[in-house]
Amino acid sequence: MQEFEKYIDLAKSLKTVNAKIISPQDIFFDIRAILKCRWGCEDFFQNSIRCDTRDTTYQERVEMVKSYNNILVIHAHDARELSIAVLEIERTAFLDGYYFAFAIRTCNLCKVCAIQQRKPCPTPDKVRPCDQSFSIDVYKTARNLGLPCDVLQSKDDIQNRYGFVLLD
Ligand code: SF4
Repeated sequence: MQEFEKYIDLAKSLKTVNAKIISPQDIFFDIRAILKCRWGCEDFFQNSIRCDTRDTTYQERVEMVKSYNNILVIHAHDARELSIAVLEIERTAFLDGYYFAFAIRTCNLCKVCAIQQRKPCPTPDKVRPCDQSFSIDVYKTARNLGLPCDVLQSKDDIQNRYGFVLLD
């Protein structure tokens, strides 16, 4: 566990608010997250690379997450900074020898998503899957860890965003 502390420090140096090492048992899965993804998210209708589940089944995606022992959950207020942070942490962990290190975080790398402007994604290799498509109940997961996650009432509310880096 201690060997992963450096990724908490790295996350905090990348403009995020908080980070914790958790286990798969700390992640709550609920198939209703997929229900909301397919019918509640405007991105899905655009047949977007951001929503692509790459021919994996729901069961496979849950099993993928459960195959890891140590997962970094990262809390941030800014969606783009969080997307940048999870990729940087994934890369660092990979170079440290955790060759299965992998980020789960809906892609907000660009200030304005090219896909949403019906243009090709400039960096498709950097797009990572959305947590909703993995049926992760982010609200329940964050709250159970003592992290804030509430339904926003207005666009001016502070956003609490979460990303995950599956480490080993
Ligand atoms: S990298 Fe940019 S264009 Fe591609 S999916 Fe992410 S935000 Fe959209």
